[in-house]
Amino acid sequence: MKPVPHPHLLGIEPYKPGRPIEEVERELGLSDTIKLASNENALGASPSAIAAVRKAVERIHFYPEGGAPDLAAKLASKLGVDPASLVFGNGSNELIELSARAFARAGDEIVFSADGFAIYALVAQAIEARPVPVPPRDHHHDLPAIASAIGPRTRVVFLANPNNPTGTIFRRAEWEEFVRRVPDDVLLVVDQAYCEYVDTPDYPLLLDELARRPGLVLLRTFSKIYGLAGLRIGYAIGDREILDAISRLRQPFNVNSLAQAAALAALDDDRHVERSRRVALEGRAEFAQAFARMGVAYVPSQANFVLVEVGEGAAVTDAMLRRGVIVRPMSGYGMPSKIRITFGTAEQNRRCLDVLADVLAEKNR
Ligand SMILES: *Cc1c(COP(=O)(O)O)cnc(C)c1O
Repeated sequence: MKPVPHPHLLGIEPYKPGRPIEEVERELGLSDTIKLASNENALGASPSAIAAVRKAVERIHFYPEGGAPDLAAKLASKLGVDPASLVFGNGSNELIELSARAFARAGDEIVFSADGFAIYALVAQAIEARPVPVPPRDHHHDLPAIASAIGPRTRVVFLANPNNPTGTIFRRAEWEEFVRRVPDDVLLVVDQAYCEYVDTPDYPLLLDELARRPGLVLLRTFSKIYGLAGLRIGYAIGDREILDAISRLRQPFNVNSLAQAAALAALDDDRHVERSRRVALEGRAEFAQAFARMGVAYVPSQANFVLVEVGEGAAVTDAMLRRGVIVRPMSGYGMPSKIRITFGTAEQNRRCLDVLADVLAEKNR
């Protein structure tokens, strides 16, 4: 006899991350592999964040400060919000999970777009809430349909803007129509992991909306434009009582001291953020032009990645992998004919596009 896990756990399909460079090189005997699979920052972290981590290493025998007060103070002044309206997580992934756990329980409903971030369904399953995936429209969140899917048992709605893996956004006018239909007692979580990459003027950042709607929580991360994915740090912005509820569930030292030090330094390096943004936007334009030239269909993106139609996503991913370019197959999102490519440096983008062109040409021979 062995202890038996709770049966609902066995129904959870584990999250499939992008494959690490080390693993791929070991398996295929490659070197010089590039990873364009997990929407990481092509330029890496800010040099001052790296220096801050080196310095903070000297003090890793101490527990970190719970609640990250220095970071909260700096970020609050940058955002123009009160420090009490911020809570930090071990990646924004942790805050996705904690917001679900704080506001929903078994039998409640959690609503999200069917082509939204995979984690939303996983956290719903983990707490035995009922996931309610709403079919997208033309790779966009169908906000009217999402509003209609909200019922008396709905406790939480997750929206990603821009969305991953589609890279699409909803605009302010759509948001305003939508939010009027959302009951005040539903927790509305808008995941803005890629907000810094948007260049559409009527994109709703929603900081102004927080005062009007206490049930609104915005999630942001240091994993993408700040280049700190390996340290695991993200944050929520929202009403202090709502965040207090979420905070009760977090471990006392959920954000480690290296992550806090790095994030603090990263916030001071606006130039690195600006350069990171520029590189991503250049990549976006370069890929769009190349796909148009190649006659390859893609979903126009507002993020640092793009969803591309390649016919057989798994086979193309595999063939690209063998040539040292790691991209992401999309069968897990019910899109087996597509792959997702993160924009890299100019050189990485060229190599990726060359390899993709070769692989597609070979397939059609
Ligand atoms: C990458 C990503 C995150 C960030 O996750 P972290 O846990 O902060 O690394 C959150 N939401 C979406 C939609 C993402 O793509």
